[in-house]
Amino acid sequence: MLKNPGLCHASRGASVASISSLEILDSRGFPTVETEVVLTSGARGTAAVPSGASTGTFEACELRDGGTRFLGKGVTKAVGNVNDLISEALMGQNASNQRSIDELLISLDGTHNKGKLGANAILSVSLAICRAVTNHYGLPLYRYLSGLNFHNLPRPMMNILNGGVHADNPIDIQEFMIVPAVVAPFMHSLEMCGNIYQVLKKSLKAKGLNSNVGDEGGVAPNLSSTRESLDFIVRAIEDAGYKPGKDVNIALDVAASELFTDGQYRIEGELKSTAEMIRFYEKLVDDYPIVSIEDPLHEEDWDGFVEMTSSLGNRIQIVGDDLFVTNKKRLGNGIGLHAANAVLIKPNQIGTLTETLDTISLARKSGYHVVISHRSGETCDHFIADLSVAVGAEYIKTGAPARGERVEKYNQLLRIERSL
Ligand code: PGA
Ligand code: ZN
Repeated sequence: MLKNPGLCHASRGASVASISSLEILDSRGFPTVETEVVLTSGARGTAAVPSGASTGTFEACELRDGGTRFLGKGVTKAVGNVNDLISEALMGQNASNQRSIDELLISLDGTHNKGKLGANAILSVSLAICRAVTNHYGLPLYRYLSGLNFHNLPRPMMNILNGGVHADNPIDIQEFMIVPAVVAPFMHSLEMCGNIYQVLKKSLKAKGLNSNVGDEGGVAPNLSSTRESLDFIVRAIEDAGYKPGKDVNIALDVAASELFTDGQYRIEGELKSTAEMIRFYEKLVDDYPIVSIEDPLHEEDWDGFVEMTSSLGNRIQIVGDDLFVTNKKRLGNGIGLHAANAVLIKPNQIGTLTETLDTISLARKSGYHVVISHRSGETCDHFIADLSVAVGAEYIKTGAPARGERVEKYNQLLRIERSL
């Protein structure tokens, strides 16, 4: 006879009954992976994975079909891997043990970068299993992920002006963001940033400039310089009735690996060395209320990041995105070197939920700020909104208050705020 039939029933209820995956489109119209997991209890969970454009070299592999279909960007191989190999291996496994599920996925793939099954395939399963278990227990996702360590909502780091590979304009810096200066109710922060975004759009139109939006929903005007873009933003902050540097600050994502050729950075028609780039940032920080710069230098310029952190790290947040790629080893290297003071977290850069959480806990232990981030190619999946609350991230970076796939993350944070 079973000693504890109740316990046995609970674990049986949370085991995997079926996994099926589907090719869907992301916000740029390219295919991506969506997976649904059903547990033996009948609980279901679905997750869709995003896709980057300024992708770091050291990210986990996003498996694409190649060939001519969707310009080579089809994901039928990744979908097939979920439906066949992964599904077979996970059938009947205890879904509540996320770590052992993720370890099984990692060993089934067997490569250092998830290149066999595809990080897109693996992540979709990892997240869908987590969602199914959450539904099995009847808990909101952020509650399940946080356990007893419940945290406050993050501050938005809202991208309002797009450049780089996210827009067809001459602006070299990829993202210009606004950040509330203090922690406030999320709706309040969203209203402030949203007002500034609307004023910025109007002010560009008034000057005869294009106010159409880029991949992340920020405006993408034909401005040519960083300073001109920053001037528009500072004026928009003022015209919306706020004080730059007091109510709201500015953050940049340079995505500098995209600017790097032959050992130098090409920016605004000039070639700059690492030292010249750092001087360029120092002057920007002197002249504008900039509180955070992401990927100021190339993803392998560790010495440059160390120099940047020693010169500006006590004044601003220096965020590693392509530098760390949500990878615990790379983050550990950066922590040892003092190469930044914050980490950008994108679950699809590493490919499983537990590896993402491990990287976040290393950041936390080392006093690094955590910025949870979307990708430029997104879906309406809002997993990262719940994740940002669950881990107590200081910031969430999820685009402008425009385009459904961006707004959905903000709306999920509003739902979470209301439930509190
Ligand atoms: P990506 O851009 O999603 O195109 O990589 C986002 C970022 O660089 O932060
Ligand atoms: Zn970035």
